[in-house]
Amino acid sequence: MHSIAAMIMNHASSRKVDYADVRVIRRTTESISVRNEIPESVEVSETFGVGVRVFVDGRWGFAATDDIVHDRLDGLVERAILGAKAAAVAGGPKEHFDPPPAVTATHASFCEVDPQSVSLEEKLSMLTACTRIMGGEKSVEQCEATMDAWHEVKVFYSTLGSQIEQSSTVCGAGISAGALARGDMQVRSYPNSFRGNFARAGYEFIDAMRLDDNAAQTAAEAAALLRAPMCPDLPEADLIIGGSQLALQIHESVGHAIEFDRILGYEASFAGTSFLQPSDVGHRIYGAPIMNVTADATLPHGLGSFHYDDDGYLSVRDVIVDSGRLVGVLTSAGIAHVLDRRSNACMRAEGWNHFPIIRMTNVNLEPGEAGSLEDLIADTSHGYLLETNKSWSIDDKRLNFQFATELAVEIRDGKRGRLFRNPIYSGMTPAFWASCDAICGPSEWQLWGVTNCGKGEPMQVAQVSHGCAPARFRKQRLWGA
Ligand SMILES: [Zn+2]
Repeated sequence: MHSIAAMIMNHASSRKVDYADVRVIRRTTESISVRNEIPESVEVSETFGVGVRVFVDGRWGFAATDDIVHDRLDGLVERAILGAKAAAVAGGPKEHFDPPPAVTATHASFCEVDPQSVSLEEKLSMLTACTRIMGGEKSVEQCEATMDAWHEVKVFYSTLGSQIEQSSTVCGAGISAGALARGDMQVRSYPNSFRGNFARAGYEFIDAMRLDDNAAQTAAEAAALLRAPMCPDLPEADLIIGGSQLALQIHESVGHAIEFDRILGYEASFAGTSFLQPSDVGHRIYGAPIMNVTADATLPHGLGSFHYDDDGYLSVRDVIVDSGRLVGVLTSAGIAHVLDRRSNACMRAEGWNHFPIIRMTNVNLEPGEAGSLEDLIADTSHGYLLETNKSWSIDDKRLNFQFATELAVEIRDGKRGRLFRNPIYSGMTPAFWASCDAICGPSEWQLWGVTNCGKGEPMQVAQVSHGCAPARFRKQRLWGA
């Protein structure tokens, strides 16, 4: 991989380009699904390819191939240069690029047990056992258990002299039980919906979830939801939002809104722009004074973690919201200068065949001082605890949102009470975050992995994480449907 990268950079250096970089990437993926004790799918795939970016007189060009034959690779730089020239013909303002310092580095993510070293038989046996246990619950008829793993090696070279090799392993798993009766279906998931939870880690992360030990409880909760009454319709309810749901709330109403390309209007066609303006940075009140948000690509187990981004910038931990005030956004070497700043390293491409764009790193709500979840419940006279996402919707300015969760538990006089099915809450981003009056402490704070964040055209899928602890939001619209 290094020899391919070096050869392409030699070729680029011999041409009249202002800058060029190359990414050589090999990625393997394994995805396993079991339904009702039957293996539904086992997919293993590998991609290996090369992507070259060139910067010529203020225009980017990009070319990529998985046809790794040396004499064909010669033409790759030429194709990228042709792209840059075509961009010049198309017109528009020239682009900016603040080159990073040249660096030589090798980095590997934490991984105790390589998921590929665990046999398929063992994985299938564990997942099948989970669906068998869940299926033992009366009325639970759809039992699913899934597991996914990715391993990637990426070599980045640039004409500045950077030579960076990064390798990483990501994996995760989850179970869900679907209870059916009288035309209604209620689903309960563990540890999260949409194939579970994920981390930049090895199989030890999946082992630690103890999916089989949690299968019976998950199924029992699905069955209980089936018998539970519909969530009441309340114009002003106090909500405690559990960690995995709050992670998605952060993703949609903070993470995407603070992508600086959206704020500048450069990104709009897929999922819109942002309600924020460039002049808001440093001034705008985003939420309550207890709201502190960081974008931290240095967390060891985050899906949005890396050592160097695809501009070649070193990963950082940056403050985005400081005591409720917006002080930072997600930037790149191309647009950070608009704020008179250096890039905070958010450029990532889905793979070798994509041009990097601004992506979330790990956008986290920092822990507060409300202690444990049980402490927060005990501190709530009347409210609803909402757990685990079922569906989401947010407008193209990241303002109006609506989320459904798997369950709501009523809290009365500081104690858990009745269970309700089909809860939905909605709100407006600034008012919602302004209503936050308590955030649980570090003991409840954890990272939630999101593997399916879509952005761009052609669409690119990115993996990100959000760290948070359960938090309370006053006087929110809540109903059942
Ligand atoms: Zn997303």
